[in-house]
Amino acid sequence: MSFDYDFLVIGGGSGGVRAARMAATYGARTALVEEYRMGGTCVIRGCVPKKLFVYASRFTDLFEVAPSFGWTVNAEFDWPTLVANKDREIARLESAYAAGVEGKGGTIFRDRAVLTGPNSVRLLKDGRELTAKYILVATGGQAHVPDIPGKELGITSNEAFDLKALPHSILIYGGGYIAVEFATVFAGLGVATTIVYRGDKILRGFEEELREGLEAGLVERGVKFIYETTIRALEKQGDDISVSFSDEVVAPYGAVMFATGRRANTAGLGLEAAGVALNPDGSIPVDKMSRTNVDSVYAVGDVTGRAQLTPLAIREGWYVAETLFNDNPQWVDLSLVGTAVFAEPEVAAIGLTEAEAATHGDIDVYVTRFRPMINTLSSKTTRTMMKLVTAANGGKVLGLHILGPDAAELVQMAAIAMGMAATKADFDRAIAMHPTAAEELVTFKSPSWTWRDGKKV
Ligand SMILES: Cc1cc2nc3c(=O)[nH]c(=O)nc-3n(C[C@H](O)[C@H](O)[C@H](O)COP(=O)(O)OP(=O)(O)OC[C@H]3O[C@@H](n4cnc5c(N)ncnc54)[C@H](O)[C@@H]3O)c2cc1C
Repeated sequence: MSFDYDFLVIGGGSGGVRAARMAATYGARTALVEEYRMGGTCVIRGCVPKKLFVYASRFTDLFEVAPSFGWTVNAEFDWPTLVANKDREIARLESAYAAGVEGKGGTIFRDRAVLTGPNSVRLLKDGRELTAKYILVATGGQAHVPDIPGKELGITSNEAFDLKALPHSILIYGGGYIAVEFATVFAGLGVATTIVYRGDKILRGFEEELREGLEAGLVERGVKFIYETTIRALEKQGDDISVSFSDEVVAPYGAVMFATGRRANTAGLGLEAAGVALNPDGSIPVDKMSRTNVDSVYAVGDVTGRAQLTPLAIREGWYVAETLFNDNPQWVDLSLVGTAVFAEPEVAAIGLTEAEAATHGDIDVYVTRFRPMINTLSSKTTRTMMKLVTAANGGKVLGLHILGPDAAELVQMAAIAMGMAATKADFDRAIAMHPTAAEELVTFKSPSWTWRDGKKV
């Protein structure tokens, strides 16, 4: 049977673009369909604009310590300038993503694609039906907004990137990484910021010390926390939004942002027509090769419900192309994936938490807390925390958890050593670079505490 294309990718985000570019590089006749903007969530309304906004908000921290280094600063912030410059950078990246596919011979259709069978897709605007030997679903996810009265008055991270003006106050609903990153941004830019969360502490799944340290850092930044509470309803009140909470309190805010999770983009995608099975949460189950239950249909990235991280989507997309078009079957090892939270202070972690490691055998735990050197001349109290979890008696490094400046950069480099199964002794062999924060990781003398036979000693 002949097909229009060897490979048809739905979604021009992190996973789809990498898959299409690599497939085209290997000579596959490749098409990619994108309904919005090339680059997807990460480039257009995720990682990239988020990090730019975090940078903008961190000037506040520098201004705060500047007088202790002898500086007098009279700084003013202009939101429209930030948004316009962010837009320019994103437009540049968007073009680069399109060029990356087209430059290798791939074809991009600016349209919405719907599957009509295991080897066919309809372009909704154009009306054309395209056939392909293999179809890759890389449609990502979207913000989930709880179904409460007045929900349309709130915003999600999508709209937060393009507000016409900063609100005087904002209520952020959620306790995950998007909630705390945007709290960092808004509070740093002078917006009175409150996080309301149904749980009892932010960043579920991270080490307790990181959760507590980040909360303390955000409190120092002026963020208020309301825990074990949900939002019942939103109502317009003049220029503000009146929020009714589950504890009967009603209070006005300049804006309300939902950071209440993300769901796979599978609705109306025609997956049933192709016979592709779905998980109960709407994501697409795949095997380790990213293949769905239908042989000709693959799926990568956020739509699969695996970890929602750009580098994973990219690697999964690349390996699908590698497997199908370069005779080089590859799958992604998900056992050692680092993750970062670009809040202030920054959080990053890789490997096992202490609690997880303690269930695998005897372990040693090394912990240090100190004031980052940049804060030592000022009254800023935020502290850095590092926790190294190793197999007992100088064994394999199992987990690394950092809160503090450049945490993500440090964990990224340690990930290389951990991927090579580095031991505590390997870390110790490295000569410290002084004065740095990272030198703490190679100068731990004796464990802060240990776990033996499942008990903390
Ligand atoms: C606010 C925010 C901050 C984030 N920060 C980070 C971070 O710091 N680090 C990190 O690693 N990850 C971060 N992420 C997650 C990251 O953006 C995603 O993991 C990544 O974008 C997933 O890539 P993807 O290819 O699966 O999907 P996406 O990048 O979402 O791309 C999917 C594309 O498919 C298109 N599409 C959907 N349906 C169709 C259709 N039927 N037809 C045609 N096109 C369609 C969409 O328009 C979209 O462009 C962040 C996400 C958000 C929301």
